[in-house]
Amino acid sequence: MKLHEINQAPFIREMCEATSQLWAYGWAERNGGNISYRLPQEEVKYYLDLNRVKKIVALDFTVKSLAGEIFLVSGSGKYFKNIQKNPADSLAIIRINTEGDCYELLWGLEGGDLPTSELASHLQCHAVRIKQDPEHRVILHTHATAISAMTFIHELDEKKFTKTLWQMITECLVVFPDGVSVLPWMVAGTSKLGAASAEKMQASRIVIWPHHGIMGAGQTMDDAFGLVETAEKAAKIYLQICSTRQEIKQQITDQQLLALATEFHVKPKAGILREEGRQDD
Ligand SMILES: [Zn+2]
Repeated sequence: MKLHEINQAPFIREMCEATSQLWAYGWAERNGGNISYRLPQEEVKYYLDLNRVKKIVALDFTVKSLAGEIFLVSGSGKYFKNIQKNPADSLAIIRINTEGDCYELLWGLEGGDLPTSELASHLQCHAVRIKQDPEHRVILHTHATAISAMTFIHELDEKKFTKTLWQMITECLVVFPDGVSVLPWMVAGTSKLGAASAEKMQASRIVIWPHHGIMGAGQTMDDAFGLVETAEKAAKIYLQICSTRQEIKQQITDQQLLALATEFHVKPKAGILREEGRQDD
């Protein structure tokens, strides 16, 4: 079969567009941020000889449930602003081996570099999200400015954090009815952070890393990107309200948020909104 030019593949183009946009937003300074994109074999085979493995690298954890899965991932130390200029240098296509303890490099990282240092977080989050949603495909981590700023002044209680974000823009509840999870501060790039993030992704598609950034999951690049963008916009509004030092005179009530959920047929994460007549939260 004649292979098509891989730089024209929709998944490479989407990755280039997303990374450029994240940089343009100011959320991917230097080599900040990383993305992994699960690719169906049927899609990749038109661009790549899947029998040609360039390198096999051991993982320091095992993700058996991802055996055979193929991912397009950003490279370690790569600048998002440069990815579109030379995708083959900054990105990699990897496949998890049958034991789930190694990855096979199929394409990219031509300078001999490694996939993102957050690969542990990405793969463990993928494994969890696929169980929740077979259509899941993207994990995106970026240094979203307002979300990160908010983690300095807002309580890190994830129910309170979720409610504040829901109250900032009417549509937030509809976009992330599963709320946000918030981890304690942890060392970046470790499989411990990966495991903790994955644990949180059982219940919500957004995980906030205090004083660092955000991780979002989605069925498509747009879905994951839009999710992060929405949370970030809400955080930005929160910060603007705080910076006015004015007392809040009115805001969206729990009853209004519940009415919104009913209208849009979404189920808000339990334990956050108080239903009328109930004394507990
Ligand atoms: Zn980061």
